[in-house]
Amino acid sequence: MKKRKKRHLAAALLLLLGGLSLTTFAACPLPRPAPLTGALPWASPPAEMALFQLPTGVTHRSAAFAYRGGSFGDRRDFAMTAVLVKHPRGDLLIDTGFGRDVDVHLQSMPFAFRAVTSYARTRSAAEQLDAAGYDRKALRAIILTHAHWDHVSGVPELAGTPVWVTAEERSFIRDGGMLSALLRSFPAVAYEEYGFEGGPYLGFPRSHDVYGDGAIVIVPAPGHTPGSVIVFVTLPTGARYAFVGDLVWQQEGITLREERPWLQRTLGDTDPSGVRDALLRMSAIAERFPAMTLVPAHEARGFAGVPKL
Ligand SMILES: [Zn+2]
Ligand SMILES: [Zn+2]
Repeated sequence: MKKRKKRHLAAALLLLLGGLSLTTFAACPLPRPAPLTGALPWASPPAEMALFQLPTGVTHRSAAFAYRGGSFGDRRDFAMTAVLVKHPRGDLLIDTGFGRDVDVHLQSMPFAFRAVTSYARTRSAAEQLDAAGYDRKALRAIILTHAHWDHVSGVPELAGTPVWVTAEERSFIRDGGMLSALLRSFPAVAYEEYGFEGGPYLGFPRSHDVYGDGAIVIVPAPGHTPGSVIVFVTLPTGARYAFVGDLVWQQEGITLREERPWLQRTLGDTDPSGVRDALLRMSAIAERFPAMTLVPAHEARGFAGVPKL
């Protein structure tokens, strides 16, 4: 009798786990959004403009961790890469990736996260800039796609460089609990807030054209964090990039319209429905303008064509 009870319990548990994994990790594409109309937005990037990647390390994950329908057997190194946008009016760094003290910085994260995070660090963004003989005075600001630990770990090594954030992200840094604790712990960060005074851009309702030439345009994409943004960059070659931060962790999130699995979005996203909205906007952009390179912050393939410094 006891044995039978145990067997029933085990079967129920298996069924529960099976159901959970099916509802959590199985493919479940979001409905296709209305097609985007209109031409590519105007841009007049100066000839001196250029883009470089500064890879600072990787975390070892699987596709299943990143998007619904991804396979557990599809092992992927998630990029931890900063991006240097050179512009004659002031260079910009999009995120910083891992800093040289990332081992210590990871301790700011919850135990469960640390337990499932294995990573390798290379050189920090500041170390790479210095090794290339880069004049730090040319660096106007760091644009954060959002304030999570893996995007800000290099901030202290670039002390004095303003950190551009939206008002919503600034509040998140101030009050956002564990997920913004690392940035909050850095002393004397020179925050500069910006707003979205510009009109609609590629289906996003508001925008901020950094230098007024259409070359670097930021749009609000709240959801992953309250003040998450997407940075669109247009080069003089005509090449266009969308640096989407952690809106999705791999390109399939956008191209297959697959959001993060339930557990990841519940623990990692402040507002999963906001993420869904921006994901669908990006999916409409990707369908209309397939030549645009989608660069989730942790997507190695997005950086493939971007030269190193
Ligand atoms: Zn994040
Ligand atoms: Zn991240």
